[in-house]
Amino acid sequence: MARFSFVCSECGARYGEREARYVCQACARSQTPGGVTRGVLTVELADLPTEWPRTGFDAPEALAAWLPLPSANALPALAVGGTPLLPVPRLRATLGMPHLWVKDDSRNPSGSTKDRASLLVVAKAIEYQCDTVACASTGNAASALSCVAAAAGLRAVVFVPAKAPPAKLLQTASYGARLVLVNGSYDDAFELSVAACNRFGWYNRNTAYNPFTIEGKKTLALEIAAQLALDAPDAVVVPVGDGVIVSGVAKGFADLVRAGLLPRMPRLIAAQPEGSAAIALALREHRATIISVDGAHSVADSLVVSAPRNAILALREVRASGGGGVIVSDDAILAAVGNLARTTGVFAEPAAATALAGLEAAVAEGLIGREERVVLAITGSGLKDATAAGRTSRLPPAIPPELEAVEALLSPEP
Ligand SMILES: [Zn+2]
Repeated sequence: MARFSFVCSECGARYGEREARYVCQACARSQTPGGVTRGVLTVELADLPTEWPRTGFDAPEALAAWLPLPSANALPALAVGGTPLLPVPRLRATLGMPHLWVKDDSRNPSGSTKDRASLLVVAKAIEYQCDTVACASTGNAASALSCVAAAAGLRAVVFVPAKAPPAKLLQTASYGARLVLVNGSYDDAFELSVAACNRFGWYNRNTAYNPFTIEGKKTLALEIAAQLALDAPDAVVVPVGDGVIVSGVAKGFADLVRAGLLPRMPRLIAAQPEGSAAIALALREHRATIISVDGAHSVADSLVVSAPRNAILALREVRASGGGGVIVSDDAILAAVGNLARTTGVFAEPAAATALAGLEAAVAEGLIGREERVVLAITGSGLKDATAAGRTSRLPPAIPPELEAVEALLSPEP
């Protein structure tokens, strides 16, 4: 039995496993509706393993030893994580960066990093004997929860803004989840999901609310270090919305440092689109607080939040790592979707390609050197929002089934 406690990221209060469920009750008293979450809890395992797992972190037994779980049997039977760290030679040549890797998390079962959080949350729901798990989502967390819940035989109820990309909604519905389309923002969906969980007794998976989401996402960092021959990179570029994935990456590396298996943390670079850049702006302006973005918008729909819920923890961890924030335009993000696909074979959704756009900005600003060992976290598949790619990639006209027509169509190509 892996013993653990919860630690409040804001006031430092400690809670036993049975003493807290979502956030620190002391800090939550100053919570404002729709605002940054107060009192986000993190998980602290009493005994971390002191050796690297020989089988790699994607083996259930190895993974369970690093997670707050009673045993490997508690994990739903689904191949989450264990995604490749690609050396990307053509992208390296294009950017003049010989030590660049892509962590292709689009290969998770539902196509995004959110599966890592859902795997742990669903395992805890089973342990807590809850048969229904709910969450609010801009799309990916909804499909991830629905996917893992389907494999485990739990009911999923997901609250999603009605304007989320249709592919994400149809994917979620296909897994058999109860889909609640909300005429409103992600923040509206978040508040509604919390109220529904309180009313109906469901378990809530919301990010920056359920502490196991950060803990589940830490496996991304554990795998990166194991795949880099048991070492940390110099920097990891992470697309940032509400700041939970970047906190998960920080938690994974921090646990490896605490276990004595890594000498240091990598610098974390938080990449955000200019229409939804509250965390990156606070980093760049050396502010302790977040200014909410009214009318947040971007082609990178997964990153659009007015008040990033996990901002307090994300800001602290990015700063402590010696990293920083970069802000990129929607045009740069869409260009990065194409550049990544053409040079690596990885088709990323705009939110995920924000990592590549962010890398180029970070190099231009001197936050990252071209000789450094850098990893891009590609957090979601392009198939989730293929219409976004259509804004830069054009389809050719149809031709009759004749060889001459093929020659005419391709003739200008050298
Ligand atoms: Zn607290």
